[in-house]
Amino acid sequence: MRFAHETLPQRVVFASGEAAAAVAGEVQALGATRVMLIAAPAETDLADRISAELPVAVRHDEVVMHVPVEVAERARTAAAAGAVDALVCVGGGSTTGLAKAVAMTTGLPIVAVPTTYAGSEATNVWGLTEGEVKTTGVDPRVLPRSIVYDASLLTGLPVEMSVASGLNALAHCIDSMWGPRADPIDRILAEEGIRGLALGLPAVAADPAGIDGREQTLYGAYLAGVAFASAGSGMHHKICHVLGGMFNLPHAQTHAVVLPHVLAFNAPAAPGAEHRIARAFGSPTAGEGLATLRKNLNAPRALRDYGMPENGIARAVPPILDAVPAGNPTPVNRDNLTALLRAAWEGSEPA
Ligand code: NAD
Repeated sequence: MRFAHETLPQRVVFASGEAAAAVAGEVQALGATRVMLIAAPAETDLADRISAELPVAVRHDEVVMHVPVEVAERARTAAAAGAVDALVCVGGGSTTGLAKAVAMTTGLPIVAVPTTYAGSEATNVWGLTEGEVKTTGVDPRVLPRSIVYDASLLTGLPVEMSVASGLNALAHCIDSMWGPRADPIDRILAEEGIRGLALGLPAVAADPAGIDGREQTLYGAYLAGVAFASAGSGMHHKICHVLGGMFNLPHAQTHAVVLPHVLAFNAPAAPGAEHRIARAFGSPTAGEGLATLRKNLNAPRALRDYGMPENGIARAVPPILDAVPAGNPTPVNRDNLTALLRAAWEGSEPA
């Protein structure tokens, strides 16, 4: 066995129903006295629920998916004008992403309060968009110092979005089995993440206001983020990154559609991953486990439903071929990638 694994320094607090006190405790531990509270207008009520005990100096609500550079610049200006000494973000991956953009240039510590299953809070990866081009990178300053997970903040996340976001987290786990830096620690975290998500998501779909399912799913989403931050983007994420950027597709839904196709593509050439994923699902094969979960959740099926044009298949092939890591279990070529994208576009069963 030969590998090097870096564990990222971060506090993680699970405190269902108690985010206000938990966040206040994390801010106090940082010694911060002027907080910039970042939350989108849609999450104002959730932010209000945790802000009462915080020394809020600035509230910032301009949140845009994929963090356009001009939006990041305005948030940095607001942070400087308010002389803030910490960032608290309440929201999904887009909101966490904005806090990261501010931390990247200011070094301000982040306390992240996630309200979806995106998992960005557990990674040191930032993303910024300029025009149609999304750039991502790694920087230790963007890793939130603390995460506070409060399942009660997610009880209003609609089931459809919960399913898509949870399958986005599942994609982090599955790609962590064969990402470019995947190691045995990532794989064990990813396996436990799959277990949490496979248990939690059906419970969320059956009872969206129930805390247990939300908590299990957050637990899985956290492990997914940790594994993914270490393993790096594999074939699945490279495909979704290209498609999302080219056709402005919704992030979580794109992941939810593409995942079974990449699993079917890679699993036959990755017996170790196949075994772990199947075991985590408690299913005879990885593919059957994912198919059963997707069926129970009525998961998104076809990229064409989200606005991808049919001629986009041919356009997407060259940039994806350039991006897929060399060590992908099944070698990728123009023909097998075209077949995969067509199946995901039309929503047919994974081959
Ligand atoms: P999002 O943050 O855009 O949120 C999606 C929608 O859900 C929004 O309309 C939001 O208002 C709503 N919402 C959020 N929480 C809610 C709640 N509790 N109740 C009701 N509505 C709620 O989407 P996302 O899928 O969370 O994040 C996607 C973004 O995160 C993408 O830009 C992606 O690139 C990024 N991301 C980054 C990383 C990383 O490591 N850097 C990892 C995963 C995702």
